[in-house]
Amino acid sequence: MTGLDALLADVGRAFPALRLLTDPTDREGYRHDETAYMEAGLPGAVALPGSTEEVSTLLRLASTHRVAVVPRGAGTGLSGGAAGIEGALTIVLTRMNRILEIDPDNLCVVTQPGVINAELKDAVARHGLFYPPDPASYESCSIGGNLGTNAGGLCCVKYGQTRDWVLGLEVVLADGTVIRTGGRTVKDTAGYSLTHLFVGSQGTLGVITEATLRLRPLPGPRATMLAFFGSLAAAGHAVAALTRAGLVPVTLELLDHETILAVDDAHQLGLDRAAAAMLLVESDAPGTAAAAELDAAEAAILAAGGTSIVRAQDAQEADWLRQARRLALRALERQGTVRMEDVGVPRARVPDLLAAIERIAAAHGVRCATFGHAGDGNLHPNLVFDRDDPDAARLTHVVRDEIFRAALDLGGTVTAEHGIGAARREWLPIQKGEGAVAAMRAIKGALDPLGILNPGRVL
Ligand SMILES: Cc1cc2nc3c(=O)[nH]c(=O)nc-3n(C[C@H](O)[C@H](O)[C@H](O)COP(=O)(O)OP(=O)(O)OC[C@H]3O[C@@H](n4cnc5c(N)ncnc54)[C@H](O)[C@@H]3O)c2cc1C
Repeated sequence: MTGLDALLADVGRAFPALRLLTDPTDREGYRHDETAYMEAGLPGAVALPGSTEEVSTLLRLASTHRVAVVPRGAGTGLSGGAAGIEGALTIVLTRMNRILEIDPDNLCVVTQPGVINAELKDAVARHGLFYPPDPASYESCSIGGNLGTNAGGLCCVKYGQTRDWVLGLEVVLADGTVIRTGGRTVKDTAGYSLTHLFVGSQGTLGVITEATLRLRPLPGPRATMLAFFGSLAAAGHAVAALTRAGLVPVTLELLDHETILAVDDAHQLGLDRAAAAMLLVESDAPGTAAAAELDAAEAAILAAGGTSIVRAQDAQEADWLRQARRLALRALERQGTVRMEDVGVPRARVPDLLAAIERIAAAHGVRCATFGHAGDGNLHPNLVFDRDDPDAARLTHVVRDEIFRAALDLGGTVTAEHGIGAARREWLPIQKGEGAVAAMRAIKGALDPLGILNPGRVL
């Protein structure tokens, strides 16, 4: 009997009703996350627990039988963090999908991890409240996955990443122990900030089974505009100019020429197909301040070389313009295999990063479409290959490594929001240094001494 068989037998005795998938066809659906081009293992079994108690028992038994565990949310991750490990137990949290309490008096919400980001946003909005983190995948990704990756999105420039909105967590440790890291207090300096440690740890330190998230009052309708440019450099300079002008729009997103064409081909949005780049700028400032913020942004953009501006006339048109950005990845995927990267630099270096990406892709003759959260200094260069290109994997490695090096040389990071996962591990010591990685290993060793939680991811 393997360790996994023994674990499944024990689980069956403890929780006969627990949802367990053991059929190979069912398990196959949990092999990959959104990095389908990466190699991944077939999970030995997939558990879909419905309570913290079940998660705790699963982890306790996994420790007893030395079985590796992969925590998983909706599987939309872009770093291979939730991809299967051959013979391991994948624990999928999507059935733990209840919002437990919306607390307007304390501006917070208590939720299980399987709730979809958009559903949480809608639920709190009905109370006049706002949960800002909004990855472009917000209609399909889970709060647990957002916490696991410290997800970013389209409004970090004003509101920060997922980590900035977490007050406390319930976490199941590798041996099954359940801990709480915080609660509803806005300020809490008792001991180390375990909350911030678990957020972004990609399922390597514990399984998050509940979260208390900060909220704020729902802002009014957004003012939305698109700005087009004759060169990518001008768009980069406009991003820097907006920051220099002290503007903090809620959204400041960039799409390059390749991405504009792909989105327009797929969805006929009527974008300026001749433009070399486009910025999506939005303000959620109260009342007339939103229009005033866009007026100031427009002036800075035109001074930086913007060629034309389109402003949304109403909420429906704003939503339509916003779609141009949200649909970018799927539009590119219609054209071939896409390898998406996630580099970040200090905001003022965005023009340099754009130039480096263009230069590197051209030098290798690789088609690269870049879009991303330019206002955060976070760009997604997407390498687009023919589906049957035999050289795609090799070229991806070469181009991506050069882009990573360029980002680091500009004082940046190899991943701003998708995480190291399985995809970028070798770059962690290069970016952070051996000392920092040794400190991370010490933390991992203390919390997961048997190394059962998502082994081979991050570290
Ligand atoms: C079209 C598209 C657009 C995207 N846009 C963005 C974007 O704008 N910004 C952004 O940041 N990301 C984006 N992503 C990436 C992805 O959606 C996010 O990383 C998201 O946070 C993953 O959530 P998930 O529920 O799918 O998690 P999964 O992919 O299932 O898991 C992600 C990681 O979290 C861990 N994890 C999951 N649940 C738990 C838990 N309960 N406890 C502990 N660890 C857990 C997993 O082990 C894994 O390492 C995009 C993806 C797609 C496909």
